[in-house]
Amino acid sequence: RPVLEALNLHRTYGDTEVLKGVDLSLDRGEVKALLGPSGSGKSTILRLIALLEPADEGEILLNGKQVGVTTNTNGTTRPLREAQLAKQRRDIGMVFQRFNLFAHLDVLHNVTLALTEVAGMSKKEAAETAAVMLERVGMGHRLKHYPSELSGGQQQRVAIARALVLNPTVMLFDEPTSALDPELVGEVLAVMEKLADEGMTMVVVTHETRFARRVADEVALFDHGRIIESGEPSAFFDD
Ligand code: ADP
Ligand code: ADP
Repeated sequence: RPVLEALNLHRTYGDTEVLKGVDLSLDRGEVKALLGPSGSGKSTILRLIALLEPADEGEILLNGKQVGVTTNTNGTTRPLREAQLAKQRRDIGMVFQRFNLFAHLDVLHNVTLALTEVAGMSKKEAAETAAVMLERVGMGHRLKHYPSELSGGQQQRVAIARALVLNPTVMLFDEPTSALDPELVGEVLAVMEKLADEGMTMVVVTHETRFARRVADEVALFDHGRIIESGEPSAFFDD
C-alpha cells in the first residue's frame, strides 16, 4: 500500500485552474522528482500535500488514511479544524526554496521549537534530539549561530533538520537549492541523497537534473496543471 497518495487533485486560484486533476503515489522509501516549467503547478501540489492549503477537489491519503478533511458517516467531507490539521501536518516535512528559518532563534532553537511546542518534549530532551539531527546534516558545530551568520547552504541544512526532527512520514522539497549560490548546491543535495539512501519517502521539485537522474526512482513531468509524462529517470535524461 502506498505511503502517500494524491488522487485527482484540483486547485483553482481566481478563475485559473492551476491543478487540473493530478495523481501521485509513492511507496515507502520512494523518491519522486517533479519537473516542468515554471507555473505548471508543482509548488501548488506540494502545498496541498503539506496541508498548507486545501484542495478544491480530490483527496490525499497518508498510509491509507485521508488527511485534510473529516469524513462524515454519510460520506461527505468537510475541512478539519486548525488543531487537527496541525497534528496531521507533523507527519509531513516541508523544505522551501527560501529556508524560512526563524531569524531571532539560533540554530538549535530553530530545531527544538517544534519539539517543545508541537511534540511537547522537555527542553532537555528536545535539545538532545535536535543536536543529533543537526549532526546528521553536518550542522552540529553551529548550534549557537543565528541564521544570518550562516551561508545559504548551511541555513537550508538547518531547515532540513527542522523538518526531519518530528520524524515525518514523507519529506517534500520545493526547489531546495534554487536560492543558493552554485557552490553551495552540492552540500544540500548531498544531505538529501543521504536521506534518500536511508529510506526516506520524498517528493522533490528540482531543476537539478543530475540529482533527479541519480536519486529519483520516478520522474513526473508537469505542464499546465497536469502530469503529462512520468517514468524512470533514464527515460527523461540523456547521459
Ligand atoms: P510551479 O511550482 O510549477 O512554478 P506553482 O504551483 O507555483 O507552479 O504555480 C502555478 C500557477 O498558480 C502559477 O500561474 C501561479 O502564478 C499561480 N499561483 C500559485 N499560487 C497562487 C496563489 N496563492 N494565488 C494565485 N495564484 C497562484
Ligand atoms: P480557500 O480560499 O481555497 O478556501 P483558504 O485560504 O481559506 O483557502 O485556506 C487556507 C486555510 O485553510 C489555512 O488556514 C489552512 O489551515 C486551512 N485549511 C483547511 N482545510 C485544509 C486542508 N485540507 N489542507 C490545508 N489547509 C486547510
